[in-house]
Parts: sequence; structure tokens; C-alpha cells
Amino acid sequence: MKALIIDNVSKKIPEMLRSKGVDVEIAVMPGVERLKEIIGDADVLVMRVLPSIDRSILDAATNLKMIAVCSVGTTHIDLDYAREKGIAIINAPAGSSNAVAELAMCKLLELNRHTIPAHVEVSGDRIWEKNHFVGHELRGQTLGLVGFGRIGRRVAELARAFGMRTIVYDPYMTAEQCAAAGGEKMEKDEFLATADCITIHLPLTPETDNLISFDDIAKMHQGAIVVNMSRGGVLNEEAAAEGLKSGKLGGVGMDVIKGELADLAGNDVLYSPLFDTDGNYAVTPHIGACTVEAQENIGDIINEQIAAFFHL
Ligand code: NAD
Repeated sequence: MKALIIDNVSKKIPEMLRSKGVDVEIAVMPGVERLKEIIGDADVLVMRVLPSIDRSILDAATNLKMIAVCSVGTTHIDLDYAREKGIAIINAPAGSSNAVAELAMCKLLELNRHTIPAHVEVSGDRIWEKNHFVGHELRGQTLGLVGFGRIGRRVAELARAFGMRTIVYDPYMTAEQCAAAGGEKMEKDEFLATADCITIHLPLTPETDNLISFDDIAKMHQGAIVVNMSRGGVLNEEAAAEGLKSGKLGGVGMDVIKGELADLAGNDVLYSPLFDTDGNYAVTPHIGACTVEAQENIGDIINEQIAAFFHL
């Protein structure tokens, strides 16, 4: 049996596989063409969310029985075609919830206190002027959570420790379920008009693509802050950039951008309309789950599933 690992995942995974006599090849971010060359004899592909696993890669994977995704989302895989080919897909939905939630709080703090522009002004321009960076406290603000699953609920828990009110837009949860986890459910328009800050935590699907659009931003508070921790495309980045330029938005945080797959698609230009603004935005390269603790949790969850599936 052979396992191919193509991202930086917990060391526990190759350790477990090797201890069971599995041949493990590690090729981090090989690129699509190289991946097609080396995937042919792999029984299991261990990855995170890059690259997109399309038909051409699945066709090259002639021996593949399982794709083990060391994260939550699996929409980067052509799931129908994988199913047709009898390839099992596993993931680790709960392993990184706290890590992502803490990064969401980090962005809310950065954007409310202007720490990134302050850092740039001090270290780049050698200006020491506190009056340029008068911010807001989280305490007393209303945080709107779009999506109230594992991550959204953990963000709410952390936000309440800061003294924030937590409201929820999640059509798939009842008011009672939201209340039990400390959130007040609202319909979308009321939610948008009520929140001072919004964080986004749901899967990218045809329904959630462009879920926070030009029209939605127009309904928000003047100076609202929006943070997308889910997948590029859920927040319309053109609309967010316009919102920053006009002052409608006070800050935009993104751990994900629509163009983040660009380099792996053979397009080496990484672009978001936010890059053309000089507004208060904070972007990180999809590092929500990048903590030692999350990767270890995920390693345990993935190992258990691989061992059960292949009877190791
Ligand atoms: P989850 O399945 O526990 O929760 C998702 C929630 O979204 C559910 O409560 C669901 O009802 C809600 N939802 C679905 N469609 C909706 C809609 N149209 N409007 C409002 N709410 C809707 O998932 P989770 O573990 O909380 O993860 C959420 C997302 O976070 C993942 O799908 C993934 O895209 C993203 N994520 C990002 C990182 C990162 O590194 N930034 C890491 C892990 C997960």
C-alpha cells in the first residue's frame, strides 16, 4: 500500500502509516502536472485544500481508494466523479474549529485597533503617532455570525468573553438552537443592519457564493467590519473593496480570497480587489487551521479513519 502526502500535515500521519508498513511519499505542493505523474500508484492521497482535485487528476489516480482531507471543506474535489470512481473522501471537520475561531478574534482585534497600519507606519515610515490609530473596543459591540456551526459557535463563545452581543444569520438553525449556544437568530436584513462586526463561517456552495454582496454591504452599519474566515467567494471582494473605499466598511478581514487557487491553476498572479485599496484590511493566506494543536487533532482524526478503512 502507498500513501501520497501533498501538504504540510501532522507528522502523526506518516508516522502511523510507516509504523503499519505503508510506503509513504511526501511531496508538498507538487503542482498539478507533477501530482498527475506521482499519484498513479497511491492508494490514499493525504492533502489539505490545494490543489483542486479535478477529473484529470482523478483519471491519473488509477489506484486511488481514498482522499484524506486534513481540513473541513471538501468542495475542492470533484466529489461526483470521485464517487463514480469509488474513491472514499474523509475529512476532519472538528479538528481546527478553535484555531479558526481564535484567528477570527485576532482579525476583529486588529481591525478595530488598526494594528496593521500602525505597524507599517512605525516600522516603514518611522512615525510614532498614537493619534493616527484611535480604535474601538470589542466590549459593547454586536458581533454577527454568518453560519453558526462548530466555528461560528466557538467565535461566539470567545466574543462573549470580550463582552460582545452575539447575533446569528443561519437559516438552517432554529432560534432555540441558536439561543442554546448563546446566539440571537435574526433574518438577514435585520442581522445586517444590527451587527457592528460580522464574521463568516459556512461552506462555499452555489447557495453561499456571493452571499455577502453589494446589496448586503449597503444594508450594514456605516463603518461595519466584515471578516471572511470561510472560503473565497462567499464575501464579494469587489463589493468589500468598494465598501472600504467609500468608508461604508470600517475594515475587512480575510483568511481566504477568491483568487487563492490562482497559482495552482497555472496563473501566478495572486489578486484581490482589496489589494487596490489602502483601507483597513487584514489578509492572511488561509492559515485558520495552521496551529500545531489543530494539526495534531486533525492527525489523530485522519489516522483513525485511514486505519479503519484499510484495516491497518
Ligand atoms: P459547520 O458545518 O459546523 O457549520 C456551517 C454552518 O453554516 C451550519 O450551521 C450551516 O447551517 C450554516 N449555513 C449553511 N448554509 C448557510 C447559508 N446559506 N447561510 C447561513 N448559514 C448557512 O462548519 P464549520 O466547521 O463551522 O466550518 C465552516 C466553514 O469554515 C467550512 O465550511 C470552511 O469553509 C471554513 N473553514 C475555514 C478554515 C480556514 O482555515 N480559514 C478552516 C476550517 C474551515
